[in-house]
Amino acid sequence: MHSTIANAAPTEELRYPWDRHPGADQAVEIAPGILWLRLKLPFRLDHVNIYLLADGDGWALVDTGFGNDSTIAAWETLFAGALQGFRISRVIVTHAHPDHVGMAGWIVQRFGCPFYMSQIEYLQGVYHQNRRTEERIVNSRQFFRRHGIAEKTIEQLVGRGQDYLKKTVPLPAAYRRLSHGQDITIGARTFRIFTGAGHSPDQVMLYCAADRLFLSADQVLSKISPNVSVWAHEPDEDALGSYLNSLAQLSSLLPDDVLVLPGHGVPFYGVKTRIKQLADHHQERCGMIADACRERAMTSAELVPVVFNKHVLDAHQTGFALGELIAHVNYMVGQARLRGELDADGVLRFRTA
Ligand SMILES: [Zn+2]
Repeated sequence: MHSTIANAAPTEELRYPWDRHPGADQAVEIAPGILWLRLKLPFRLDHVNIYLLADGDGWALVDTGFGNDSTIAAWETLFAGALQGFRISRVIVTHAHPDHVGMAGWIVQRFGCPFYMSQIEYLQGVYHQNRRTEERIVNSRQFFRRHGIAEKTIEQLVGRGQDYLKKTVPLPAAYRRLSHGQDITIGARTFRIFTGAGHSPDQVMLYCAADRLFLSADQVLSKISPNVSVWAHEPDEDALGSYLNSLAQLSSLLPDDVLVLPGHGVPFYGVKTRIKQLADHHQERCGMIADACRERAMTSAELVPVVFNKHVLDAHQTGFALGELIAHVNYMVGQARLRGELDADGVLRFRTA
């Protein structure tokens, strides 16, 4: 799969036509009938992009922001200002992460409009909103122990308030399904729906061939590498293999001259160049892991500082770094580049095959 990407021979350089992002109370037109907004997030990744697509006398909303009071205040400001008189005709959510689906229930209720997600992402959101916390924590402890995390760190990781319901308002009770390969007409435009796994299980992207516009959600971001992690509820998932397959598929489905409208960061040209950078970045990390595990068998916990050697990580970032690390070792075990050994202490160690 990786060689497929390399052979695609990207010709478009990365270009960023907008050097500034919209302010909190602004809607910026990036193409006729396409508006770009930006909402704040309470993390180091401090914003999420929202797009509005002209839809007859209304507007289709793509993603909704994090489910907290300050996002509600931000939407109220927009609906009283830059978006005054706007009717939201439908809400499309790219994936079940709280920064994207967080306010969906609130907006759908406010406008009485239909709600669109892929089936897997909708069910993923429903699962996260209904899961039993105690049982999940027991499972997470087992998962972290198996990967060699110290007990003190485990306490920080399971105790740092991962309650999805505090980050999302209740999901709408019904949804319309978006499936890979289907077309959806929004106003004068037809978009081809692509879905892809890795960052989340079945993330939705929208491609308008006529206008060369690609809403990439978090699958292809302009300057940061999307988080590709394995979590305790699916410990053997090959999230990175799925992600690399999705990148290769996008590289073959898309022309090189699309304007990419990502879920974070700024719009850009050069999608194939960016896809190749992202794939190379992950292969480089696999190389670092293979080198380290050639000397001696290592746990995922021991490999975190090998791969994330330029970063000082807090508990939140340690959780993501560990999830990313496990995505790499699972992928490499699947590719027979690593061998996992479960030791007598119940800890999994990896050795280069
Ligand atoms: Zn995101």
